[in-house]
Amino acid sequence: MTAAMYCGRGMLRTVVLERGLSGGELLNTEVIEDYPGFEHILGWELAQKFESHAKKFGAEFLQETVTCVRKLDDGSFEADTESGTVYRAPTVILTAGGTPIKLGIPGELKYAGKGVSYCAVCDGAFFKGDTIAVVGGGDAAVEEADFLTRYAERVYLIHRRDELRASKILQKRLFENPKITMIWDTVVEEIEGDAQGLVTNLKVRDVKTQEARDIAATGIFVFIGFRPNTGIVEGHVDHDEMGYMLTDFSMETSVKGLFAAGDVRAQLTRQVTTAAGDGTTAAIAAEKYLKALKDKVGVPMIVRTGGYAV
Ligand SMILES: Cc1cc2nc3c(=O)[nH]c(=O)nc-3n(C[C@H](O)[C@H](O)[C@H](O)COP(=O)(O)OP(=O)(O)OC[C@H]3O[C@@H](n4cnc5c(N)ncnc54)[C@H](O)[C@@H]3O)c2cc1C
Repeated sequence: MTAAMYCGRGMLRTVVLERGLSGGELLNTEVIEDYPGFEHILGWELAQKFESHAKKFGAEFLQETVTCVRKLDDGSFEADTESGTVYRAPTVILTAGGTPIKLGIPGELKYAGKGVSYCAVCDGAFFKGDTIAVVGGGDAAVEEADFLTRYAERVYLIHRRDELRASKILQKRLFENPKITMIWDTVVEEIEGDAQGLVTNLKVRDVKTQEARDIAATGIFVFIGFRPNTGIVEGHVDHDEMGYMLTDFSMETSVKGLFAAGDVRAQLTRQVTTAAGDGTTAAIAAEKYLKALKDKVGVPMIVRTGGYAV
């Protein structure tokens, strides 16, 4: 939406193809307290502000699920959609984000946002003085478990094996933290809650002894990986070992004219601020790309009407 706002300000005919409601992960976030200028704003409220801002500058929003993005021989791009409409443009900005990998157990969807979370930075403050659980064994799980002790009284780190994958330094910090209890060789099999719809209990099983037991907890943070939504791009695009798209400083990927911004891109951290920043850069870079195209060979824009950035 930031990219769309800047493309609109660049007088580019801009269409945003979004499979759901505008807002992405903002819609999965109860409250945002770390976006500059908004000390406390509901996720959906901030999303609406982003959307109306982009629309103000002429960006068009279409509810479409993109199934494939491909580069054509003439250098332009095509985006196929589930509706069957094909969108063509000389440049594409991919901002499809990523998807936290879920546990896929009973209660996970039911209590999403009501004790089940995939982001400690965002939701940790809601568990002041509570007993909560973190699931996972990599850097994210260990780092976030440590982070969450600034709020929670007790944090169980539940890991399905007897060894963590996280870096040694993170493990050292974790084991020195008196508020954290390691639960090894254990998986969470069900999340239970109370009449108010809040998490109260976890059903777990030791994968070695098969012993099943209950753990009383008001929150469960799942960090078992993140999958960037890059699968829709046809052909090879350079990416890192986790699948995140690699870009240069202008957010251009290894495919000329294809830009990537936000959570879909390889970078240090993933926040609304960084996504908005990426969107700004990608839009301005796309505008320069289009101008260079035009200047170089005066390529007629392959559009229905006027210049398009999809
Ligand atoms: C639970 C949670 C809470 C968070 N809370 C905070 C917070 O408090 N503060 C903060 O700064 N950051 C927070 N973050 C991180 C922040 O939300 C993300 O960094 C930011 O939303 C990334 O923006 P994005 O546009 O790159 O991706 P997203 O927000 O993921 O948006 C991607 C959009 O692409 C759409 N899409 C994907 N594939 C397709 C397709 N094939 N066709 C059409 N549309 C498609 C999706 O529907 C989605 O709307 C949180 C993240 C999570 C998971």
